[in-house]
Amino acid sequence: MLSDSITAVKGVGEKFSEDLAALGIYTVEDLLNYFPYRYDVYEIKPLSELIHEDKVTIEGRVIHDPSLAFYGRKKSRLTFTVEVENVAVKAVMFNRAFAKKHINAGDIITLSGKWDVNRLQITVSNYKKGSADSQSQIQPMYSIKGNVTNQKLKKTIKTAIKDYADEIVEILPERYLTAYKIPERKNALTTMHFPRNRIDLKHARRRFTYEEFLLFQLKMQLLRKIKREATEGNAQNYHPYKVQEFISEFPFSLTKAQEKSLKQILADMKSPYRMNRLLQGDVGSGKTAVAAICLYASITAGKQGALMVPTEILAEQHYQSLSELFGDKANIILLTGSVKGKKRREILTSIENHTVDIIVGTHALIQDDVYFENLGFVIVDEQHRFGVEQRRTLRDKGLNPDVLFMTATPIPRTLAITAFGDMDVSVIDEMPVGRKEIETYWTKENTFERVLRFIEKQIALGEQAYVICPLIEESDKLDIQNAVDLFHQLKEFYPPDITVGLMHGRLHTDEKDNVMKEFAANDIQILVSTTVVEVGVNVPNATIMIIYDAERFGLSQLHQLRGRVGRGDKQSYCILIADPKGEVGKERMRIMTETINGFELSEQDLKLRGPGDFFGKKQSGVPEFKVADMIHDYRALETARADAQEIIESNMLELGEFHQLKEHLETSSFLTDKLD
Ligand code: ADP
Ligand code: MG
Repeated sequence: MLSDSITAVKGVGEKFSEDLAALGIYTVEDLLNYFPYRYDVYEIKPLSELIHEDKVTIEGRVIHDPSLAFYGRKKSRLTFTVEVENVAVKAVMFNRAFAKKHINAGDIITLSGKWDVNRLQITVSNYKKGSADSQSQIQPMYSIKGNVTNQKLKKTIKTAIKDYADEIVEILPERYLTAYKIPERKNALTTMHFPRNRIDLKHARRRFTYEEFLLFQLKMQLLRKIKREATEGNAQNYHPYKVQEFISEFPFSLTKAQEKSLKQILADMKSPYRMNRLLQGDVGSGKTAVAAICLYASITAGKQGALMVPTEILAEQHYQSLSELFGDKANIILLTGSVKGKKRREILTSIENHTVDIIVGTHALIQDDVYFENLGFVIVDEQHRFGVEQRRTLRDKGLNPDVLFMTATPIPRTLAITAFGDMDVSVIDEMPVGRKEIETYWTKENTFERVLRFIEKQIALGEQAYVICPLIEESDKLDIQNAVDLFHQLKEFYPPDITVGLMHGRLHTDEKDNVMKEFAANDIQILVSTTVVEVGVNVPNATIMIIYDAERFGLSQLHQLRGRVGRGDKQSYCILIADPKGEVGKERMRIMTETINGFELSEQDLKLRGPGDFFGKKQSGVPEFKVADMIHDYRALETARADAQEIIESNMLELGEFHQLKEHLETSSFLTDKLD
């Protein structure tokens, strides 16, 4: 059976099985699914097309017997001449004295190695007597370690395929094989290990790409269905007229995208199932406005709502803007870690007896001693900063509240449907009308003085500026020092009527608050800061964003920072000061100056950084695929997603044709892994 221990395969002894275990191969099935991580292609090209220093393959006739020279201890060099396309090419082979016996004048030989165009010479790494048949042109390369070699692994896989071939069953229903013209499983699997040609290999990979995506999407969607149905009985009967009235009091009308997202969220709230939705939108696209409407809707349903944000500054700001927005329509309270003692106890009591409707706060609002009387709606801002743990605590706290995660880091659609496959996603991809586009420039440090003069000019017009210093680790003293130094430098540079402020993570909460308040009131004109101002801070009068050492930030983060300006009706500017060394860094700066659409940027970022890095190490949530590549195989991902949706919605797993697929899903462990 495929689930047999790997030792069941002929030639695999105790020792070798241990080596294989180190690669994660325990069963026959593991072995068969251990695909090469790349393929070396030896394709014979005309001499004129060979590139200097490239790895190339040539075929020719040996002109005279090789000569062998020894040098040093055990070192040897074998040289011979090969006639290729009537040209004499010199072949050099190091430390393979034994090959002298094999290679004789007149032999046809295929050589692979590094090409030297000037000397017409090949440094041979591989040779094979005879013509290059198609079989040997594509060499699978496995990721190996210890005593496992490519050769040994290949041989073992060959044996396993021979002995277990009949047990490799098709799991994809016939209809997909036909529709997408994909090879069936056994063939495709054999091809993955022993490709005969590029075309076969391409189709085999296409097959496993689709299979991986389909299985993944099916699991995600099954999970979502189960989770959803487990939460039946939490409809929020909000008051549609009151909600309409609330909206009509806004000084603006909602954008189409806001309306669409709002409709989706309200429908979730009304439904008997718990909402688990992600609301994405660029900075300033109006997510908070939508969230406020939903909070209000929840209140009209007699529930409490909570808004959870990552920092105290942000909590404070949201608290203030919501208080203004709601007026006497709701009781709003701020609960952060710095609220202590009697004040905190009072707040907890008011939450518990429902004399407050909306609680705004940081993680403090999910602590053990916080009891909500009737929590119906929870908004988590900048969700990727919250771990699974907090989400769970929050979920357990109320009576199955509807949860809306908001993020201003536009997540590429590819990632959204994989990493967040068990969530619904709403997107606000449109800016309110009348916003001026932020002009972005990239410059080197030697123009810093000009930049400073520019700031001075804008300040004379009554505007304000941020100057951001990179801070990679919140605790990194050096980075804070950067900000402090720059602060002093600017204070020195400008006349005393320009006030420069300083902000960084080491300041006390009330110090931070004071600085922020002074900046908001234009008592500070230039705010030098580390990235603590990254999220949410709203000072519409600030029109200039200077980002120092911009090459140290990712695109998404730069975009976030840039979003701090352009919030009022004045023209805003973002100036990136950077001297990136590599091409990728330069490309990033260029992209920033050319693109203001966050979704486009995030797609670019994903391409430059790869999916693993996109969210940072801590909370990737992005699955690892063996064959599939989320970015490259995007279309297959979309197809698989649509198919999975149809399968689940139409209950197709019960059809005979889907029997194998169903069985495969039932025996995999994803449900027990995820349903905790
Ligand atoms: P986000 O939370 O996505 O960053 P906000 O909801 O905070 O965006 O909105 C940013 C600013 O734009 C706020 O001052 C808000 O009042 C305003 N705003 C929101 N929606 C609209 C709209 N449809 N038209 C005009 N201004 C809007
Ligand atoms: Mg916001």
